Amino acid sequence: MSSGSGATWRNWGGNVTAHPSVVTEVSTVGGVVDAVRTAASRGLTLRVAGTGHSFTPLVATDGVLLRVDGLRGVLGVDRERMRVRVAAGTPLHQLNPALQALGLALPNLGDIDRQTISGAVATGTHGTGVRRQGIAAAVCGLTLVLADGSVLRCSAAESPEVFEAARVGLGALGVVVEVELQCVPAFRLHARESGESFSSVLGGIHELADAHDHVDMHWFPHTDRVLLKRNDRVGPGEGPGPLPPWRSRLDDDLLANRVYEGVNRVLARAPRLTPRVNQLSARVLGAREFADDSWKVFCSSREVRFVESEYAVPRTSVVPVLSELRAWFERTSAPVPFPVEVRFIGADDVWLSTAYERANAYVAVHQYHRMDPGPLFAAFEAIVAEHEGRPHWGKVHTLGADRLRSLYPRFDDVLAVRDRLDPGRLFTNAHVAHLLGD
Ligand SMILES: Cc1cc2nc3c(=O)[nH]c(=O)nc-3n(C[C@H](O)[C@H](O)[C@H](O)COP(=O)(O)OP(=O)(O)OC[C@H]3O[C@@H](n4cnc5c(N)ncnc54)[C@H](O)[C@@H]3O)c2cc1C
Repeated sequence: MSSGSGATWRNWGGNVTAHPSVVTEVSTVGGVVDAVRTAASRGLTLRVAGTGHSFTPLVATDGVLLRVDGLRGVLGVDRERMRVRVAAGTPLHQLNPALQALGLALPNLGDIDRQTISGAVATGTHGTGVRRQGIAAAVCGLTLVLADGSVLRCSAAESPEVFEAARVGLGALGVVVEVELQCVPAFRLHARESGESFSSVLGGIHELADAHDHVDMHWFPHTDRVLLKRNDRVGPGEGPGPLPPWRSRLDDDLLANRVYEGVNRVLARAPRLTPRVNQLSARVLGAREFADDSWKVFCSSREVRFVESEYAVPRTSVVPVLSELRAWFERTSAPVPFPVEVRFIGADDVWLSTAYERANAYVAVHQYHRMDPGPLFAAFEAIVAEHEGRPHWGKVHTLGADRLRSLYPRFDDVLAVRDRLDPGRLFTNAHVAHLLGD
């Protein structure tokens, strides 16, 4: 365990800054126990940091900031049940190849792999697929260091209430030191990406979502263009080959990152050009088709910094929400270069999951980090409020406990577990207090 003070902490999006009085880095469970006991004895609060990829101030603290990215690696494998025990701070970009080496994979992933497994689980990180679920639904056990320094293992069979509350736990119930994951056999995906008319895609969006394992749409505001990604499972040797390295470099490194950064810098200085540039951007990322290991298809590199707000709405609300958003863009001509992303996920049973007992569409709006996201996020939040929108816990929103209680049937059950495990509110900050009501 090592500790320092006076450091400034910033999240990936650059929209959250914190000045913790102590930053503690740990690489053992014993180190976590010491850090928790020391914070409690000094009357400080403690927040755990993953890799800071959340856009909400979940990690921000003026107390102890505990970095868990030193807790890494696969700790154990149950080959028969296809379950792995993983140290909490393991980043997904290390976990995915390690699982592949075991002939396993996570059933679904989001679009990047830089996060820690514990951070991804704690905020309900998800990918897409009407017959799939978010990452937290694949968690079958957790080991936590609690506020009193004790270590608790929980699962559906052991301390089940803690397990249900702590899967998407926002770092508010304890420090997760180990995550047990239910994997599936490693699989390949056949990816088909093409530019389409947004209006036509909207007309058949439910058939499209049902017809493919994973559907992801990127609609460029001010245009009728959408980049449509359809990924389907294929057996070994089926489908085309992987993208040649030069094509990945051209598409993902050069066009999606370097050129796109330059384009956004220009638009930050000349925002009125946004509609015309979006027409161009929508056409540059052309059609491509390939097949590869699932995690290589799900995840790509995102270097251009942005801030994001994402809401889950009932699947049936996806067309009205997108139509209202399109009408807002037409009314305001608001300069927003980044595409609006649309995904789908099936229902799960995780108490604070955005997909708790509800099949969702996810609509995400983004703004380049040097441009003002305020008007877009406010308009978006007003639209999804009319559709029972549940905010992604890691993406910008303003909802507090009163509204969240009405959106999450098990909200008070989570609070009861928290009262029991952390009555003195060691694991809190102003944002968590706003979310959970004190
Ligand atoms: C470029 C980019 C792409 C993204 N893509 C997606 C996507 O496709 N799908 C999606 O759903 N989300 C996506 N996200 C959001 C991201 O997955 C979540 O915000 C995730 O929580 C980030 O993980 P992290 O390791 O950075 O955690 P942090 O942001 O550092 O922390 C998140 C929360 O987890 C808690 N936490 C972390 N580790 C522990 C632990 N060991 N014990 C207790 N609490 C802990 C923290 O206290 C905090 O409350 C994206 C974000 C970015 C910046």
